[in-house]
Amino acid sequence: MTTQHHDVLVIGAGVSGIYQIKRLTDLGIDAIVLEGDDDLGGTWYRNRYPGARFDSESYTYGYSFSKELLDEWHWNEMFSAQPENLRYLNYVADKFELRQHMRFDTRIETMKWDEDQRRWHLSTSTGDTYSCRFVITSLGPLSIPTLPNYEGMDLFNGPSFHTWSWPKDPVELEGKRVGVIGTGATGIQVIAEIADKVGELTVFQRRPNWSAPLNNRTISDEEMAAIRDRYDEIFANCAASPNGFEHVPDPRRFWTVTEEERRRTWDELYEQPGFAILAANFADIFFDEKANQEVTAYIADRIRQRVKDPETAEKLIPTDHGFGMQRLPLETHYFEAYNRDNVHLVSLAETPIERITATGIQTTAQHHDLDLIVYATGFNAITGGYDQIEITGTDGQTLGEKWNDGPSTYVGVLTTGFPNMFMVAGPQSASGSTNFPRAIETGVNWVTGLIQHVVENGVTRVEARPEAEQAWVDEVVRAHERMLFRTSKGWFTGYNSNVEGHQEGKIRYQAYFGGAPAYAAKVNESTANGYQDLDLS
Ligand code: NAP
Repeated sequence: MTTQHHDVLVIGAGVSGIYQIKRLTDLGIDAIVLEGDDDLGGTWYRNRYPGARFDSESYTYGYSFSKELLDEWHWNEMFSAQPENLRYLNYVADKFELRQHMRFDTRIETMKWDEDQRRWHLSTSTGDTYSCRFVITSLGPLSIPTLPNYEGMDLFNGPSFHTWSWPKDPVELEGKRVGVIGTGATGIQVIAEIADKVGELTVFQRRPNWSAPLNNRTISDEEMAAIRDRYDEIFANCAASPNGFEHVPDPRRFWTVTEEERRRTWDELYEQPGFAILAANFADIFFDEKANQEVTAYIADRIRQRVKDPETAEKLIPTDHGFGMQRLPLETHYFEAYNRDNVHLVSLAETPIERITATGIQTTAQHHDLDLIVYATGFNAITGGYDQIEITGTDGQTLGEKWNDGPSTYVGVLTTGFPNMFMVAGPQSASGSTNFPRAIETGVNWVTGLIQHVVENGVTRVEARPEAEQAWVDEVVRAHERMLFRTSKGWFTGYNSNVEGHQEGKIRYQAYFGGAPAYAAKVNESTANGYQDLDLS
């Protein structure tokens, strides 16, 4: 078997990998993308579950790099659904003839750094081997689904799958008794979408999640024309806002505004599209416990108003964390689904699942007969993609060993001991915590600039200086510890009960919460000072 050699290998053909290969091939660099799935699209290829859609405004999610593309593409909805999103990514790949640089069904199993040759050697699931000077990992922050480990899961007679693996062929829902486990952003979307399409729907909720209306609507031709005229302004607004959206925090301090005025503000925000309720709220709700308690009480009241049965309403209201303290799911008629006679809520806090049986789910209270089980149980977030590959760096150390207690990086892109490996949307970047595609453009642009610099200067080895990495980790921890959500569970703090080695209450600092402008400033400063934080040789 022969090894294929390239200057750069990009791993993953999702939103990041597509843009990364575009930038590299524009520079005439010898690069290809290796993708484990049989087609491109990553998140939007896999998440085919009913209700899957953006919660970023569609026109802030698309790529900004091509005026022609921006002029050509028409978003049909403010928050576009998965089929359209996948069409968009295919349109981009076809328009810029990127498929020719992609190899599908090629999952990377091992990556080994060769110090003498200053190259990476990669082995794949197909048995093919590759070598390259630089490797760019665009593995996706939410690409490794995690299932619970209930006894009997393999015994269930009907179809059962994680939402990430929702089949391509239509799934028969009509008249079926469906169980959904999990009420994160995914569960909330799927539950709201299928409630009126199934026979009976039983939701198995471990902990309730705060959620607020998405307020989606279609985009008319006239509106789209106005959006096109405004694209420069839109992207500038996103770049200037902490979350990478057009929504900007209310400039007023929480306690300088009367209670009546605060509630009036929230009444307005609750009706606005997307993350306005969070991102355009008073910034104090993220830092001041009392301010957070007040907005939390307001949102709880909105749930009580929307759910007819008071007992069900109380079960849907989180009591272990405040509003915005975990990644906020946005919903369309989610709470109203529980007003339907065919929708039943099972609180696993009261009656835990004992086991999965051939015909359904047995809790400590009763057996629920089901035809289909949907696991909306989340992901091994942010570092999960790196756990799947055995990555061996200098001195034989593996990345898994280095990151055992959580990741450690320089601006989320490099990690010492693993030279010439650049992570796009990596751990401790701003990607997981801000509008994803806006942040990945920042990351891809920085990586591309760095590669261009090293190619032009004959550099063959790039590694972050340990002290620069430590300074970034300190900054990541500092930004995280300022926020109230430091005490909550969920993937923001890197905890997943289904992943071995994760400990409840032990934070893995996986995301940078200093905001999109601070992150961009940091990487731009690194370039401006001639990459002094890196060892280039
Ligand atoms: P998630 O937020 O981690 O939620 C997983 C759910 O499964 C939680 O309700 C969790 O309960 C439950 N669960 C996990 N293990 C369980 C077990 N063993 N038994 C019972 N319940 C269990 O995952 P997600 O909903 O897939 O969302 C992940 C992220 O993907 C989101 O936060 C978001 O960033 C992204 N996403 C985005 C969109 C979009 O609109 N663009 C849509 C979907 C997802 P606990 O809370 O008790 O752990």
